[in-house]
Amino acid sequence: MSFVKDIHERISILEFVTKHTGHCFRQLRGREYWLGQCPFCQNKKVFWVNTLTGFCGCWRAKCQADAPGGGRPMDVINFYARLYHVDNSQAIADLGRLL
Ligand SMILES: [Zn+2]
Repeated sequence: MSFVKDIHERISILEFVTKHTGHCFRQLRGREYWLGQCPFCQNKKVFWVNTLTGFCGCWRAKCQADAPGGGRPMDVINFYARLYHVDNSQAIADLGRLL
């Protein structure tokens, strides 16, 4: 599973989410949270990225309920899997190629 560790260490979640959603994220003043438009429900300022923990997610309960895994915070692998409708192992394989 060191492959997964490499993905977490080498891919910046904020850069990745920004690039793959095409949305602009703004930092909450003095905090490690960045907010922007959710790529899943399309609501603005509800999708958060935490640059300290490497997780992201949507604050909307409906959007969370629609997510595989019941809306738990997503790491870059879960995010990629949901965005591109692939399973986690496919996501790991795809992201591994980016390293
Ligand atoms: Zn959402």
